[in-house]
Amino acid sequence: MTDKPPRPSTIAAQGLGWTDAATGAVVLPIHTATTFIRDPDNQYRRGRSYGRADNPSFDQPEAVLTALEGGAASMLFSSGMAAAAAVFQCLPRDSHVVAPQVMYWGLRSWLRNFATAWDIDVDFVDATSLDVLRQAVRPGRTCLVWIETPANPLWSVTDIAGAAGIARAAHAILAVDSRVATPVLSRPLALGADLVMHSATKYLNGHSDVVAGTLTTARIDEFWERLRAARSGGGAILGSFEAYLLLRGMRTLFPRVERACRSAQQIAEVLSSNPRVREVMYPGLPGNVGHAIAARQMTGGFGGMLSVCVRGGAEAAIAVAARVEIWKRATSLGGVESLIEHRASIEGANSPRDLVADLECALAAW
Ligand code: PLP
Repeated sequence: MTDKPPRPSTIAAQGLGWTDAATGAVVLPIHTATTFIRDPDNQYRRGRSYGRADNPSFDQPEAVLTALEGGAASMLFSSGMAAAAAVFQCLPRDSHVVAPQVMYWGLRSWLRNFATAWDIDVDFVDATSLDVLRQAVRPGRTCLVWIETPANPLWSVTDIAGAAGIARAAHAILAVDSRVATPVLSRPLALGADLVMHSATKYLNGHSDVVAGTLTTARIDEFWERLRAARSGGGAILGSFEAYLLLRGMRTLFPRVERACRSAQQIAEVLSSNPRVREVMYPGLPGNVGHAIAARQMTGGFGGMLSVCVRGGAEAAIAVAARVEIWKRATSLGGVESLIEHRASIEGANSPRDLVADLECALAAW
């Protein structure tokens, strides 16, 4: 037996090697109980009292994610938005927050519309510049620096270690929305972040059939305890079946993400030289403004997401999107059908070639 720790891809594939002690089953049962029995003396020594706080079906996916992120603990939430919102809602009153201009629009809009009701003062800044971030934090007042990298929809890159230094100097928490990078490509906690958030709806689950969110913390501290209380008190919990599906998705996270990166890189390179394309935004392209930082903080690829500016503006872009046949026109990302994994399993190694051909055909027809 080797004493080397298992590689992250093995941890994911084996689900940390957990089996069911009672039956020997290699897949743990889905626990549906909403409540748990007290000990004869009225205590809960087995550590669980009620389903909202203590669902055993969360244990394995949370432990796997904690191991992959290199954190101290993780929590599943009912959606990525619920996980993100919990972080903001747990801040002290009158908190100042620095957030990126380029970020998931749903969260930006929630922050714009609801943050004031929670007494949160948010400055949206260019998070690709550490100078801008440094100027934006207000030592003693900024409680949270929120970043997303690569950030939707331009896939712009923020220097996580640099942002962590700035947040630390201001005694603020650095939280990273890492759902595009996934723990396969980037480990924000090792770079100094305090919290990592995922919309597990995307790559972690990877099959477009679960809406879920996660938080992972670098350490168990007072803020983490507040977050735990917010989840069980606020009730933004995942269902047991969804937790099981999420774990099942996470077990193929590495091959899915690795293949998605290779495909995205190929697609970005091919489209970059298409005369009908004005710009391809992908951190894996050497000419991309965030490439050097991405190369430093992402290992094994630059993510499965890219944006393309088509010559001819919005009309042309919509027309191209309408003409493709293999690509599915739907909002989300990280599922097998959108870019890579399912296509590859059906079509083998030629999946990206077919996707490129489909796009080139649509561009030529316009
Ligand atoms: N963060 C990012 C970067 C996202 O793209 C999304 C959803 O698209 C979310 C958060 C929200 O996640 P969910 O849809 O799971 O609530």
